[in-house]
Amino acid sequence: MSALQFTQTDRTRRIGDVERAQILADPGFGRYYTDFMAHASWTRENGWGGSEVIPFGPLSLSPATAVLHYGQEIFEGLKAFRHADGSVWTFRPERNAERLQRSARRLALPELSVEDFLESLKAVVAADEPWVPEATSEESLYLRPFMFASEEFLGVRTSHAVDYYVIASPAGPYFPRGVQPLVVWITDEYARAGAGGTGAAKCGGNYASSLLGKDEAAEHGADEVLFLDSETHTSIDELSGMNVFAITRDGRLLTPSLTGSILEGVTRESILRLAEDRGLEVVEQKLVMSELLEQLGSGEITEMFACGTAAVINPIGEFRAHGGTWSVGDGGSGEITLSLRQELTDIQYGRIPDRHGWLTRL
Ligand code: PMP
Repeated sequence: MSALQFTQTDRTRRIGDVERAQILADPGFGRYYTDFMAHASWTRENGWGGSEVIPFGPLSLSPATAVLHYGQEIFEGLKAFRHADGSVWTFRPERNAERLQRSARRLALPELSVEDFLESLKAVVAADEPWVPEATSEESLYLRPFMFASEEFLGVRTSHAVDYYVIASPAGPYFPRGVQPLVVWITDEYARAGAGGTGAAKCGGNYASSLLGKDEAAEHGADEVLFLDSETHTSIDELSGMNVFAITRDGRLLTPSLTGSILEGVTRESILRLAEDRGLEVVEQKLVMSELLEQLGSGEITEMFACGTAAVINPIGEFRAHGGTWSVGDGGSGEITLSLRQELTDIQYGRIPDRHGWLTRL
């Protein structure tokens, strides 16, 4: 049972049916927002309360609000999928709820119960149901829960007031080019996260520190940036918003182990499971970049891909760094990569049985 009930009094839609249909015809990613959002607030004295569904719109914050100065903020990202019978489902939301709790602990924010998290998702999707794209489209409604320090106070300490929201955004492909092999830039200048830092938390600051690396990647014609470990700059961590996998010629699936500086992706965990089901040998270990590049050259590694909720699974076709360029396989989309992508999306859209019980009806 959830403690919070998200009640809705104002049901006025912000966007009319015609405009919504136009948006859903080509939503892109993260460009448009639905009619409503969920909200709850927390104070040190009274805990969580005030849960409601309200019209999507600007927030009014004091310029002295703590988050604007010290960045005490965390978020999540997951999707709502429409199935062929019209029902709407989400994928492993309890894993996102638990990650939000871990992020909250690291950022000294209050934890929200798994049940309250689920209730907030259900409330938004119930209010915004017409925004969930049709099952035929391979599109979804991206849900973005987030929480931030909302106390008006300039001292550096944990905030005594916190606000939590869930906003929603119809989502097409994450990369404008669709599922095409990515060019990935290996930065030797910037690190995303360090030992004892916040790398395993989903907090805004991690993304702020990744942006220059992304800009550097774009300057070299790459789609994404790969961060190496901050201490030795030799082993692979992850991309700015996705985990990384490699597949070997002899059928092993390799991914960096969770060192505390990598985000524990729900997609990553699910792929490990699907790969095991297929009888692939799954290896979570330190992946040394120089060895990996050699294995790309020798053909021992045949496929690589990036994964996350937004992009699902996306092949990596090429790496670039100051020292040169390395093609992955023939630079195209690998067969195992595409078939894992197909299986995962088939589960999410209800096209094949959900044998692991990963779906929750919203
Ligand atoms: N790493 C980072 C840094 C991310 O932001 C994300 C996206 N949440 C991921 C990995 C993938 O996580 P998930 O599969 O849970 O979306």
